[in-house]
Amino acid sequence: MLGSDAEVLAELRGRVSVTVIDDPDILGTYSRDQAAVIPAGRPLAAVLPTTTDEVCAVVETAGRYGRPIVPRGAGSGLSGGANAVDGCLVVSLERMNRVLEVNSQDLYAVVEPGVINADLRAAAAAEGLLYPPDPASYEFSTIGGNVATNAGGLCCVKYGVTRDYVLGLEVVLAGGEVARLGRRTVKGVAGYDLTGLFVGSEGTLGIITQATLRLVPARERPLTVAAFFPELKAAGRAVAEITAAGIGPSVVELLDQTTINAIEDWKRMGLDRDAAALLLIQSDLGGEAAKEEVRAVVSRCESAGASFVAHAGDPEESDELMAARRFAFPALDRQGEALLDDVAVPRSQIPALLAAIEKIAGRHDVVIGTFGHAGEGNVHPTIVYPRNDRASEASALAAFADIVLTALELGGTITGEHGVGLLKRDLLQAELDDASRWLHRTIRSALDPSGLFNPDKVV
Ligand SMILES: Cc1cc2nc3c(=O)[nH]c(=O)nc-3n(C[C@H](O)[C@H](O)[C@H](O)COP(=O)(O)OP(=O)(O)OC[C@H]3O[C@@H](n4cnc5c(N)ncnc54)[C@H](O)[C@@H]3O)c2cc1C
Repeated sequence: MLGSDAEVLAELRGRVSVTVIDDPDILGTYSRDQAAVIPAGRPLAAVLPTTTDEVCAVVETAGRYGRPIVPRGAGSGLSGGANAVDGCLVVSLERMNRVLEVNSQDLYAVVEPGVINADLRAAAAAEGLLYPPDPASYEFSTIGGNVATNAGGLCCVKYGVTRDYVLGLEVVLAGGEVARLGRRTVKGVAGYDLTGLFVGSEGTLGIITQATLRLVPARERPLTVAAFFPELKAAGRAVAEITAAGIGPSVVELLDQTTINAIEDWKRMGLDRDAAALLLIQSDLGGEAAKEEVRAVVSRCESAGASFVAHAGDPEESDELMAARRFAFPALDRQGEALLDDVAVPRSQIPALLAAIEKIAGRHDVVIGTFGHAGEGNVHPTIVYPRNDRASEASALAAFADIVLTALELGGTITGEHGVGLLKRDLLQAELDDASRWLHRTIRSALDPSGLFNPDKVV
């Protein structure tokens, strides 16, 4: 490092004139995300810019003093991606939180990176529009973080993931330059898809300081089906039959027996504790079309072997049924330390993946609750183990890696939406071939030759 801590802080507070936090009591809250099992370093400071110019000045200062930068949104990530490294500047975009434009004629919004997903959704709804990507963290995660992780969500089975809505980005590069990438038009193929390169780059290539996002006309409030199954295979069959029949529900979520029981222990919602699986399926077509779609879903669930199928008569009842899905992770997390995995397989392989997870739980003698986006083949097997117990943590990590490798064997991927971060950095090697690894390294070092951004993460 090229200057003392005091010199760097003085420059940031003086010449750059940006808010700098170096109080160790507050700094702790900026040093890690929600992946409890992943270590975090001690940052020199958290820096809270309010404009792109300030971000440029911070990047330029960090480069001059050889201080790494860890970009940060809300810190809700689950892969250690926003975890500090020793001596770094955590650049938190939380104060760049303005929705700059909602264009209801050309169906796009322009936002700063610290805008909370729910605030963008509300701004779009006020114009009769929808920003579809809805991670379960939508009430607290930021658009910058969503773009940097290419976040998915509950309605992605119908509407796609964050990538499908990013038209353009403004990005501060490692030399402090500002690149304006992409477009506001529906179509556009000028040059390489550099916007796409930054989507999912997890803070390793630059800092996103603005995003132009596609919007769609608002949808009706959805109706929900809750279908219980006596065996996991039958739930997998129902998902396959719904997909094959061309029915296009807006949500297809699965909760296994361990997850159902964790929710019942906590919330007593009256879920069937004996069921092997619960599918929560929604239609947002509105009016008679939604009722028709619900009928088609109910019939496929019954023919696949559901033991009990309920469906909500109105949107309020629907919200109550869907609450079970929102409780899934916190319910498991209450039962001990929860190590959340995130793998995706071709949809037809979901039953095989679920069967393998059961075997992995037995082999490592750990409890695994599985829930997630069955309609996209993306699930979150969550390993629950006693807190502060080293031996159990080792078993949990071994089960975690086995699940990831199983997903790869089934033709899937090591992460469907949470990203690589630190948690899966070593496992990424198993997914990429030699040429892809070379491409990753080459792109990263071309854009950031001195390794300023988020060192040690992803690649
Ligand atoms: C209860 C809960 C539910 C969740 N549900 C989902 C879900 O359904 N789907 C899903 O995909 N994820 C989910 N997540 C994970 C997490 O919310 C997402 O990964 C989210 O996109 C992270 O946003 P953030 O603002 O918190 O980013 P952070 O955690 O702060 O950062 C995430 C990554 O993005 C980088 N980054 C952040 N901002 C910028 C920026 N402006 N420029 C460059 N890089 C940046 C960071 O360096 C880091 O690598 C959930 C998390 C929790 C706790």
